[in-house]
Amino acid sequence: MVNDVILSLDDVSFGYGDEPVVEEITFSVERGTFLGLVGPNGSGKSTVLKLALGLLTPEDGEISLFGEHPSSDDVRSRVGYVPQRGSEIDRRMPITVEEVVTLGRVPTAGLRPLRRNDRERVNQALRRVGIESLNDRRMGSLSGGQRQRALVARALAADAELLVLDEPTVGIDANARSSLYDLLDSLHHDGMTIVLIDHDLGTLVEHVDMIAQLNRHLEFFGPRDAFLEELSVVGQLAGGW
Ligand code: ADP
Repeated sequence: MVNDVILSLDDVSFGYGDEPVVEEITFSVERGTFLGLVGPNGSGKSTVLKLALGLLTPEDGEISLFGEHPSSDDVRSRVGYVPQRGSEIDRRMPITVEEVVTLGRVPTAGLRPLRRNDRERVNQALRRVGIESLNDRRMGSLSGGQRQRALVARALAADAELLVLDEPTVGIDANARSSLYDLLDSLHHDGMTIVLIDHDLGTLVEHVDMIAQLNRHLEFFGPRDAFLEELSVVGQLAGGW
């Protein structure tokens, strides 16, 4: 499919109070893209994700997710969101891994009892992210990397078409980070659309194919290679060229 746009922001501005936090942001994400959102602390990255997911409402501009309003019920189940650690999911600790992943089936199953097919989708998702042996463990007892995998599995169980991750590698060690990126690469390879924030620019640019660089405004949007070229030109200038 050509130009199958999953997410688009058109001239979007937002502030929590009087001060604008993001201004005049325009970009779109096509199906199958792995997009990295980069920028300094406080540059508006998380805010842009929350706007894109309909968790915040823009003051100006238009946002479309799967061609619809981002807070519409129809699009919710098509997006898997892995929020920063310390968010509400972590506070609901008594819940087990299998229960969290099973929640991914709720939009499909509704109030009917789960069927064998639902259970099979949950098991497949657990296997896909490599945590099938942790299914009885409580979410609160997991390491950071395992917790992120469980949330990715929940998205897979929901048949999500877009995966959105906000700083998934914060507080996890180098091995867990690299295996989380291996998982994301493999999902991307299978056609998943991914939008990711990671403050570790060096690692992020090795995996994504598109970059959106924010600093209140959108400073760059385009292919990863063009971003690296621009960085190296800036680096040369800074180095006295
Ligand atoms: P980033 O993800 O790039 O670090 P954020 O989008 O989290 O940036 O934050 C952008 C700006 O908005 C920061 O100055 C931050 O302090 C402010 N901010 C973020 N969340 C809130 C909030 N809930 N209420 C008020 N200000 C906020």
